[in-house]
Amino acid sequence: MSQYQVIIGLEVHVELKTATKLFCGCSAAFGGDPNTHTCPVCLGMPGVLPVINQEAIRLAVRSALALNCTVRAVSKFDRKQYFYPDLPKAYQISQYDQPLGEYGWVTIRGADDAAKKIGVRRVHVEEDAGKLNHLGQRLGDATGSLVDLNRAGVPLIEIVSEPDLRSAEEARLYLTELRAVLSYLDVSDLRMEEGSMRCDANVSLRPEGFAGSLEDLPRVEIKNVNSIRNVQRGIEYEVIRQTELLAAGERIVKETRGFDDATGKTYSQRSKEEANDYRYFPEPDLPPLVLDPQWIADMKRGLPALPDAIRADLVGRGIPEKDAEVLVLDREAYEYWREATALFQDERLVTNWMLSDLSRLINARGESFANSGVRPEGLVELLGLIQAGTLSGRMAKEVLEAMFESGQTASQVVKDKGLSQITDAGAIQSIVDQVLHDNPAVVQDFLSGKEKALAFMVGQVMKQTRGQAKPDLVNQLLRDSIQKNYAASQD
Ligand SMILES: [Zn+2]
Repeated sequence: MSQYQVIIGLEVHVELKTATKLFCGCSAAFGGDPNTHTCPVCLGMPGVLPVINQEAIRLAVRSALALNCTVRAVSKFDRKQYFYPDLPKAYQISQYDQPLGEYGWVTIRGADDAAKKIGVRRVHVEEDAGKLNHLGQRLGDATGSLVDLNRAGVPLIEIVSEPDLRSAEEARLYLTELRAVLSYLDVSDLRMEEGSMRCDANVSLRPEGFAGSLEDLPRVEIKNVNSIRNVQRGIEYEVIRQTELLAAGERIVKETRGFDDATGKTYSQRSKEEANDYRYFPEPDLPPLVLDPQWIADMKRGLPALPDAIRADLVGRGIPEKDAEVLVLDREAYEYWREATALFQDERLVTNWMLSDLSRLINARGESFANSGVRPEGLVELLGLIQAGTLSGRMAKEVLEAMFESGQTASQVVKDKGLSQITDAGAIQSIVDQVLHDNPAVVQDFLSGKEKALAFMVGQVMKQTRGQAKPDLVNQLLRDSIQKNYAASQD
């Protein structure tokens, strides 16, 4: 199996979060009744002229810069010609030989934690096509197809990676990191299930000793996969399929394949077009896109903190790398963390509670960190009660659950449930005495050096106080009492 090296390049389409479409004033919002977000421009009527949406360009430049691309001061638009019913003009306005951004990279980190730079060949701006709704279960036996042009003309960026990825896992890491970077920019909803982020994967196998250009390898494109997980599955399947074909002495056909979520398999759709099949030519209705280099530099300076910098900052603060990774990849979680740690000094305690109990409760309720019923100030109040010794860790878990259930604050829950920790030695001493009296053999074990015997007795006291005694205090009282009342009799 190992006489081939896996070569993967990804093309990711991201819908930009603008109010209006790329070349007209129609709403770019997702949904709406079919063909209600349309006008003569995006319907491709004769005689209309496109006008570029400045906000779309701003978001595209922001994205390209965040992906370490060089942004061209002058780029241009081109027509990509093809016929399909969801494309009313019979061409798509895109960018061909002068894309907005070029030569960037995304850094991925594998299980071995070695950083690897994946090249970003280009980031260009283009318009989306419409959508076909097939009447029937599937295209093959549809009784008809309806066209909805609400998405036609919505602004997209296409992010094309270099063929630097060597496994399905690396593809997953790249997409995860790419999505995280874009999430901090506020340029897109990034919802793969709604199509606002889509991925095509080019997969080929390079035989050992192959010295030619990667472009010469027969390439299979897996088209329009709707989740990162499915991109990974599609590539895994495709690598096996191609390896088996080559092992059987057959040839790989250059083609476009779909991915079937149910079977986990790819299937042939059509033979792949070459760029020259599209007969790209310069868009005559739009002037070249000229950007002020000073404006580009200002945009670059204005970028927010991005995953690489955030990761380094968190690890520098003593947050374990694994935890830092979870926070970085979920912008909502990271923002929650920032709010909470602005109010509470113990950053590791915040991290631990966020990524264990809070995450579990949020997930169980189908909430997210952004819309969770327990806000950062609520969590911080709870952690303060732990720090002050009012609550044990175990009690705090119970309080947190009740906060989710009732919407009450931590101190309200503590009051209502009479939950505060017993920190008064006098209140615990009689129970300690009783436990020592009832377990003479265990006391002897402890005196003969078995430290574990003490843990048993602490457990007994905790049980009798229904978990409300402060464990440190119980531990101390047990030691003192044994020292005072039992150790003497040993001599
Ligand atoms: Zn329109």
